[in-house]
Amino acid sequence: MGVGDSEDARTFGTAAPDSPVTRADFERALRAINTNNMLLRDQVLQLAAQVVVLTEELTRRLDGVEPGQPWTPTEATPATIEEALARATPDVLHVVRGNDARSTSGTSFDLGGDKYDELPADVPCGELLPLCHARCCAMRFSLSTQDLDEGIIRWDYGQPYVIRQRGSDGYCVHNDPDTRFCTVREARPRVCRSYDCRDDARVWLDYEARIPAPLTSEPSEEPVTFDLLARARTRTTAVMVEHLGLGATYPDQEPKRGPKP
Ligand code: SF4
Ligand code: SF4
Repeated sequence: MGVGDSEDARTFGTAAPDSPVTRADFERALRAINTNNMLLRDQVLQLAAQVVVLTEELTRRLDGVEPGQPWTPTEATPATIEEALARATPDVLHVVRGNDARSTSGTSFDLGGDKYDELPADVPCGELLPLCHARCCAMRFSLSTQDLDEGIIRWDYGQPYVIRQRGSDGYCVHNDPDTRFCTVREARPRVCRSYDCRDDARVWLDYEARIPAPLTSEPSEEPVTFDLLARARTRTTAVMVEHLGLGATYPDQEPKRGPKP
């Protein structure tokens, strides 16, 4: 029984104690964990920003900078450390959050609007499939909470909430490998509806002349392995905080490292 089917559309907490755990239950649990992870992560980032500001301000004061002396080109040094913390932390937090968003360890969403309001791009996909091989369906993108709530479109559990792709050919799992048609067309994500390939050099050398770009790689026969350890290593919040704390304070120096174990 799939997610979204009538028997799965029950309210949380109403299932019998011995009912089987469905994909909907499993994904609900994963989403709860991911949400908590995001909240916790942001609290760590806020703490990191405060540590960076506090370290910087204490260092300046130890170096003899007094309240009233220049702090920024337009501002005087605040009277208290607390005031400096309150004024500078939002800017540093903005940088820290930006770094975190660029890392591969975060949770990503499509924050666009209602996908059913999206006007489809003016591209005759059905007619062009023999040329383009639906290569847009091998691109990575994030799903929206609307997609997650519907429970039809599958996502990569190891990298929430990126579209789930097949290990065999790298295409979205909803793409039919024989016909290249989308098997969930009515519910396809907003990104799929709005994507316009006409000026995308990954797809066309010349759209008007119907000359596709060369395929960059042949579909692999090797299944793509999921390396949990490698992904865990990319969860580098602690390293990033250290880098920001030391690297930003002493920009000309490599961060100091402890003795090798
Ligand atoms: S959007 Fe472009 S690449 Fe994707 S299926 Fe349509 S024509 Fe092909
Ligand atoms: S959901 Fe459909 S249109 Fe979107 S990437 Fe998958 S197969 Fe392609």
